[in-house]
Amino acid sequence: MNTALPVRDGYRRRHEFLGFSPPLLGEEECLEMLDTLRSDWISTGPKTRLFEAEFARYVDAPRALALNSCTAGLHLALVTAGIGAGDEVITTTMTFAASVNVIEHVRARPVLADVEDDTLNLDPRLVEAAVSPRTRALVAVHYGGHPAELGALEALAEQRRLLLIEDAAHALPAWYDGRMIGGSANPVAFSFYATKNMTTGEGGMLTGAADFVEEARVLSLHGMSRAAWGRYAKGGSWRYDVAAPGFKYNMTDIQASLGIQQLRKLESFQVRRREIVGLYDDAFRTESALETPVCRPGIEPAWHLYVLRLNLDALRIDRDRFIEELADRNIGTSVHFIPIHMHSYYRQKYGYQPGDFPVAERAFERIVSLPVYPRMGLADAEDVALAVLDVVREYRR
Ligand SMILES: *Cc1c(COP(=O)(O)O)cnc(C)c1O
Repeated sequence: MNTALPVRDGYRRRHEFLGFSPPLLGEEECLEMLDTLRSDWISTGPKTRLFEAEFARYVDAPRALALNSCTAGLHLALVTAGIGAGDEVITTTMTFAASVNVIEHVRARPVLADVEDDTLNLDPRLVEAAVSPRTRALVAVHYGGHPAELGALEALAEQRRLLLIEDAAHALPAWYDGRMIGGSANPVAFSFYATKNMTTGEGGMLTGAADFVEEARVLSLHGMSRAAWGRYAKGGSWRYDVAAPGFKYNMTDIQASLGIQQLRKLESFQVRRREIVGLYDDAFRTESALETPVCRPGIEPAWHLYVLRLNLDALRIDRDRFIEELADRNIGTSVHFIPIHMHSYYRQKYGYQPGDFPVAERAFERIVSLPVYPRMGLADAEDVALAVLDVVREYRR
């Protein structure tokens, strides 16, 4: 078999396609899920409350609210803070659409800022330059799981009386200067989407100060004064009050069943992620056509992504072709992200031009996210590294 596969200079192509980021679910998740299905409560209830409590304890958060997505958490943070029409919110262009779409949802104006060249996180100096009298909040994204420069951003937020919201979709678990992301009084939104470091299929968590999170909790379920679980339990009353026109953003106990068990496995997931990162770093560090991701002092990243940068001057192919070559070698990859200002909605609405965010644009041209997830064995990681080095060898200028 596979005699038709190319074998060059000892390089042997992987037989099976390696997906970019499949989840790792086991027997524990199945049993917890069955337990929930066989119980009398499958929507928001005891499992969701347990997941919230265990999550809050894990990231050392004052309070946690389980939701149906990270996007819901970001949206609720803005609504709870009363941010709306006429307000400006500063965020990064190097992010997923959700971080910015939610600012549009509350009819505020997203003000984009460029990123630092090494981490691709918001550049605090550019954020400071973008602050206007209308600025109400900052949305800092911990790109790839490497925390943004929180010290500088928090100081700026305090000085200019801005709310700092953290998009921690990639940053579970991650540490900045000895403290865990999610452990602060800022609103922090996590994602349990299928590709993230742990998953509930779809899901999210909003952490932050207890009173802020409890206000968000009311808004997460129609603005009702009391959750259904409380109403339908024995001794519960049918009566409730709608205090605000809220949303339908609650997590279900079915999702929480996965979350409870995934969270318990997260430490072991991270051990594998770090092993894969170490293997990639060792394989690529001395290759001048490649740049490995940075990790600043005092940081423990979540390694949600391994973003390799191509030194395009050293190659005869561009990033898109590099990705095709890896796909030909049965390696799935992705790109994080197409900068927000390059998407048609934002380009047309705000008139962005090429060159407006030069650091993000230059990075976008040459980034490739390699597979890094706990379901990968080290042999898979080796296949990835060998495939990358084979593409470099074939297309070196
Ligand atoms: C995945 C992601 C989100 C959205 O998470 P959902 O749970 O799918 O809503 C937000 N921001 C970033 C940076 C992401 O990668």
